[in-house]
Amino acid sequence: MQADSLPKVYARAEHNISRTQVSENALKVLYRLKKAGFEAYLVGGCVRDLLLGREPKDFDVVTDAHPEQVRKVFRNCRLVGRRFRLAHVYFGREIIEVATFRGAGDEQNDSQIQNDDEGRLLRDNVYGSIEEDVRRRDFTVNSLYYNIRDFSVIDYVGGMQDHAEGILRLIGDPETRFREDPVRMLRAVRFAVKLGFKIDPGCEKPLHELADLLYNIPAARLFDEVLKLFLSGGALQTFEMLRHYGLFQALFPAVERSLEVEEESFPRLFLVKALENSDTRIAEGKTVTAYFLFSAFLWDAVRTQAQAFIRVGVATNIAFQDAANAVISEQIKRIAFPRRITLAMREVWILQSRFEHRQGSRPFRLLSHPRFRAAYDFLLLRIATEGVDPELGEWWTKFQVADEDEQKTMLKASPKPRRKPFKKRSGAVKSRPDNSLRD
Ligand code: ATP
Ligand code: MG
Repeated sequence: MQADSLPKVYARAEHNISRTQVSENALKVLYRLKKAGFEAYLVGGCVRDLLLGREPKDFDVVTDAHPEQVRKVFRNCRLVGRRFRLAHVYFGREIIEVATFRGAGDEQNDSQIQNDDEGRLLRDNVYGSIEEDVRRRDFTVNSLYYNIRDFSVIDYVGGMQDHAEGILRLIGDPETRFREDPVRMLRAVRFAVKLGFKIDPGCEKPLHELADLLYNIPAARLFDEVLKLFLSGGALQTFEMLRHYGLFQALFPAVERSLEVEEESFPRLFLVKALENSDTRIAEGKTVTAYFLFSAFLWDAVRTQAQAFIRVGVATNIAFQDAANAVISEQIKRIAFPRRITLAMREVWILQSRFEHRQGSRPFRLLSHPRFRAAYDFLLLRIATEGVDPELGEWWTKFQVADEDEQKTMLKASPKPRRKPFKKRSGAVKSRPDNSLRD
């Protein structure tokens, strides 16, 4: 730790952050802490985003006041967090998070800081000074402090320069910092995509080498990260970059395996299309659901597995259910998708074979299924990329908006389901002649 390092202070006239861009509630918190005699700063993502002229997602405050002291300043305040105590100040629906400066600590001497065998930080609940607080943050551009006392930006680590140049650089030795917390590798990709910044070459090198450390991260934490990675608008680029650094397979091993079997066409096409759709929806201000995108991720694994079951005589619907179970149980070991998401994913997959049945009352039952819309969108994706007959999509597109008479006519004219509704994936699992099994 370099406690003696002097910060660069950018006075109000030397940066573009104006208080009009800061949430009123965050300003209240800052002023109130200042009035009570404490230091108070905005820090992290909000300062970074304000400097880019973007609206921050949330405003994080950091102070030298201890959580108990913060609580005394605010009536509308609750202390949270076991690992590290934080104060949440409530203003209706907005919560301003107030953290106390964290100590960097000296790993050898400080009993409250522990690292595991791979260097991962297990506990770090010691309070410190601003100089210490800055060193335990991840990237230099995430480590700028906006001081409410004089509206200056305080920079201990060259974050302003990196920000101006669009560089993501870890504070300190990159390998050590990634080892301490491998999730920082995912954060590097997330911020590179979100901000359009370049990952500093010094940080890129260990990225390629340390991907396996992600296997040590609890599945619940990866779930939070994966949502941020894929539901923030840059999903396609995120996917490409995660694969480039070898990080993707630690998150979605089954997907990586299907991509290795066939790079150029399906399933890559299918996935790319799903990711693009999701990004377009976000750009248009529409909602995206996690289950839809992740069901697209895992679709190839599910159908390949289902085909294998079907080949040995399992009925199609059972084959898909069993395949869905197998794929989900492998996936949730890596990422703790909650049950509401895995259930919805299963439904989207299993409904696919039901589109083939266009006789009698079955189409009406499918139409009234709560997941019909998602399953239908999924079918259209398959038609665009997987070689499913476009006639099937056109039929359903028409059927769902047709009046009663038209629907009757359509049902009469509709073809019986084909024997094999699921086109076999070329090149993936080839069926072998029986005699090849003998030797
Ligand atoms: P955004 O909220 O836009 O996703 P952010 O930078 O605010 O980005 P948060 O996860 O909200 O990200 O974290 C707030 C700040 O806490 C970061 O800017 C960084 O300074 C610090 N931080 C968060 N996660 C880590 C980590 N894993 N290692 C070190 N510092 C971290
Ligand atoms: Mg944030």
